[in-house]
Amino acid sequence: MAYDPNNIFARILRGEIPCNKVHEDEHSLAFHDINPQAPVHILVIPKGAYVSMSDFSANASEAEIAGLVRAVGKVARMAGLDEDGWRLLSNIGVNGHQEVPHLHVHIFGGRKLGAMIAKAGL
Ligand code: 5GP
Repeated sequence: MAYDPNNIFARILRGEIPCNKVHEDEHSLAFHDINPQAPVHILVIPKGAYVSMSDFSANASEAEIAGLVRAVGKVARMAGLDEDGWRLLSNIGVNGHQEVPHLHVHIFGGRKLGAMIAKAGL
């Protein structure tokens, strides 16, 4: 899938749309999800133009990959999630139910999150 530079997260990165920022560094931006599914629901995105984890893992530099992974851990620690635990999720493509075509990982926490995948009601 080609990268769409007008996707909502690209617009957030360009400052065209506001976000509730949690963390920013050279390679990544983290902000609260607009429609939280848990008491803590933070999105972490790379600043580079990558559609998905598949695209990112194949094409990003080592520094970008390390930057995103480091940011994920830092954000979870900053949010105080390590003691009780948390979940990291990235949706990819149609079967993954990916809505925004700029790589993002979801950090969920603040309550028991239940089974990993719902049996029904998708
Ligand atoms: P996906 O289904 O692609 O993995 O998740 C996209 C996520 O982006 C959803 O959880 C949705 O609530 C969130 N989202 C969509 N638009 C915006 C926005 O404009 N701002 C923020 N902060 N989150 C958004």
